[in-house]
Amino acid sequence: MSLKAAMKLPTITAIRAYNMGGAAAKVHGQGGGDYHDQPKGHWIDNHIATPMSKYKEYEQSRQSFGLNVLGTLVVVVEASDGTKGFAISTAGQVGCFIVEKHLNRFVEGKRVDQIKLIHDQMINSTWFYSGGGGVVMNTISCVDLALWDLYGKVLGLPVYKILGGAVRDEIHFYATGDRPDLAKGLGFIGGKMTTHWSSAFGDEGIQKDIARLKDMREKVGDDFWLMFDCWMSQDVNYATKLAKAAEPYNLKWLEESFPPADVESYRKLKANMPKGMMMTTGEHTGNLSSFKELCEAGVDILQPDVGWCGGITSLCEIAALAKSHGQLVVPHGSSVYSHHAVITFTNTPFSEMLMVAPKADHIRPQFDPVLIGEPVPHDGIITAEELDKPGFGVELNTECPLERPYTH
Ligand SMILES: [Mg+2]
Repeated sequence: MSLKAAMKLPTITAIRAYNMGGAAAKVHGQGGGDYHDQPKGHWIDNHIATPMSKYKEYEQSRQSFGLNVLGTLVVVVEASDGTKGFAISTAGQVGCFIVEKHLNRFVEGKRVDQIKLIHDQMINSTWFYSGGGGVVMNTISCVDLALWDLYGKVLGLPVYKILGGAVRDEIHFYATGDRPDLAKGLGFIGGKMTTHWSSAFGDEGIQKDIARLKDMREKVGDDFWLMFDCWMSQDVNYATKLAKAAEPYNLKWLEESFPPADVESYRKLKANMPKGMMMTTGEHTGNLSSFKELCEAGVDILQPDVGWCGGITSLCEIAALAKSHGQLVVPHGSSVYSHHAVITFTNTPFSEMLMVAPKADHIRPQFDPVLIGEPVPHDGIITAEELDKPGFGVELNTECPLERPYTH
């Protein structure tokens, strides 16, 4: 594109929001943007410890208490030159309403490069009902990602090049799934397991999860990273005891022991952590001020989800915040939406791959079947060259059924 052409960037003529899947819709159990919505028997829904584990009827399955109710939100933006951008996240019909009845006014009519202006207007116009996070921020994230995709496609550049370019030639991945032993064989640098027991089960819960850790340490050897993801299921005393019991097995980090707003518990746990073991969290945090509080509580790795924290525009701010505190930012795995950001961050030495294969025994693209062309790690690596396609470099699978419940 010539400079003259670049100065006459197209405007955004339309934004549309679609819903796909979720337990509330006809089609579900496919994954996609709502990747917790998987068929029965999937590891991602197998007795994972949660804040609901204390209720017997909700202990076995996260879907039983509604983890998959939202479904996939697809946002499509179209420019005056006919170029289309899109993104997906987890917000379903609720997100469709917010886009079509509210956020559309900040998008249509703007130039394709006015992403930061649109982002600021979306954030500030929704404070009165967003609470600075939740499904509103999932929706804002999805619009933001669609705008970056559109801008990249208009310029003919991958998003990471618009963000300032790669600071490394390749991204190295650890795997999240309950089979770190199999992840090692697939070339990953480490494996993160879910905890299956929560504070509700006391010392017996700790012993059972430590037995799983011990077994996995024996299988993977001394040097492979092992981590625990606790999905907001603990209290300070339980997390402290679990961390101490995990020290002999060289646990690399303890993730998300508490709900996102419980900053004081993170502060207390940090003081109790064994030396060298990291405390991490952030995937359910949705605004910059809350990330600042987590930084100040001593969280070693911030883990924002780019599809839930405000999109790439917010993620860049959060990465800078972490950097100013000498902390890492390793986003919650979000496929291409993470890759294009993290390859530009100096404080992201590795990244997360969520294993969405039912038994975590092979690599399935994270947002399968909704996206086409998602690059996946091979020997635990994705190279910068593999991201060299306009926008986020993926297309929407037109075979996935979409509904547009609202229009404007
Ligand atoms: Mg996690």
